[in-house]
Amino acid sequence: MTAVAASGVAGAAMIRGVEVQAKSSIGVDEAIRELTAGNERFVAGKLTSFDLDLKILRERTVEKQEPFAAILSCADSRVPAELVFDQSIGHLFVTRVAGNMITPEIIGSLEYGVAVLGVKVILVLGHAKCGAVSAAMKAQEVPGQISVLYQHIVPAIREIEDVESAVKANARFQASLLRESSTVIAKAIKDDGLRVAAGYYDLGTGKVTVL
Ligand SMILES: [Zn+2]
Repeated sequence: MTAVAASGVAGAAMIRGVEVQAKSSIGVDEAIRELTAGNERFVAGKLTSFDLDLKILRERTVEKQEPFAAILSCADSRVPAELVFDQSIGHLFVTRVAGNMITPEIIGSLEYGVAVLGVKVILVLGHAKCGAVSAAMKAQEVPGQISVLYQHIVPAIREIEDVESAVKANARFQASLLRESSTVIAKAIKDDGLRVAAGYYDLGTGKVTVL
């Protein structure tokens, strides 16, 4: 039995001996617990998501998806959301942009995740050694349009001098911006159907800390 199956969520079904379920039927607290438990499995090197039959998961999700959580993470190659939380096809609704920042396009995507797909948690995930945050701190000169990212990060990190604190401040700032700037998300929070949290991913240990 996988750790996912062990959570005993209603609506589970056995597929080739592996239990899967419509996760969007779970509540806010349970969604947070599943993310935390998935990250603990990742840190321990005991992933269970690969025990699931990908062919069956693919086929079952052709017509619909019911992800239980959304992740807004950095585009950084060292932060692969599904792996970090030990999740598989159809479980996470993931938006990624350098600096894990809130833009109108990201808000629109996450609103879809909440209003149409029914995710119960949005986790804004910053990470150690974030290049986008570091560059914004130094107002570093960069080629092309890379510097357009700075304007979104700078308000979050004023007067902060170390990168780790700046990354955490940015994740918290983007999470609060999301809570305030979307009527869809604000209503879902008010109705106890959603939590928007900020997190920090440690590259070395693989551990996610909810801030
Ligand atoms: Zn980054």
